[in-house]
This record gives sequence, structure tokens and C-alpha cells, in this order.
Amino acid sequence: MRIEGEYITVSSNVNNALLLKQAHLTPMTPDEAALLLINMMKFHNFYLKKLRFAERCNGVYFYKEKYMRLPRIPLPPGENRPYYYLTLGCVLHEFAHALANESGAKGHDWSYIRVIEKLVTRYYNGDYK
Ligand SMILES: [Zn+2]
Repeated sequence: MRIEGEYITVSSNVNNALLLKQAHLTPMTPDEAALLLINMMKFHNFYLKKLRFAERCNGVYFYKEKYMRLPRIPLPPGENRPYYYLTLGCVLHEFAHALANESGAKGHDWSYIRVIEKLVTRYYNGDYK
């Protein structure tokens, strides 16, 4: 399945692509994203050192060594190309890198894909509230 805002290797290999697609079309404000990250960090007992919300620009989604950068501007209503906007999907995508990298994943490999699947399922189960 094609998922706008997601890498093709991820969108074509996750077993819950419909939910991930929905996540990438769900706008978030920086406050909502920060609260979700706090809840995910507690749930997984893994803590970022730095979180920054950046203006819209190329390569705005970013994670490296406990530092995460996310877009500041929520996905506007009616926008179906969620690149460079803040969505639930990009928060889950980047936090999946945080957890997957800890266990040795590289980029969007199979172990990354298993992690993002779990985060998406847990989010929609309400585990991060
Ligand atoms: Zn990525």
C-alpha cells in the first residue's frame, strides 16, 4: 500500500498499513506530539535527551542519538501530502527509530519495521494515554 509521508520499504512491509496510513493523515500540534512522546517514553522506559520542533524544511523529520527533530506546523486540513508537516505518523516513525536503533536496527530495516508496527498498534489500542 502507498502511504503518503512514509518510506516505500516501510509502507509496503508493515502488517498494519491502513492504521499507519491513518496516522500519517492525522495532524498533531507540537503540544500533542510532546505529550504523546512523554507517554511513549514512560511506557518503553526510553528517554530522549532533546526534542526540537523546526520550521518546514527539507529533512525536517530526524532522529539521531536521542535527539529528535519534528516539524512544527500541524498538517493543514485537506492536505493529503503530509510531507514536512507534523502528524501522528511522523511522531510514531521517529520514535520507532529511537527504540529500533537501541536494539541495533539500521535505517528502515526489518527490525525497524517490526518496531513501528508495534508502536502503531499500541497507539490505537490506547496504550499511550
Ligand atoms: Zn525513518
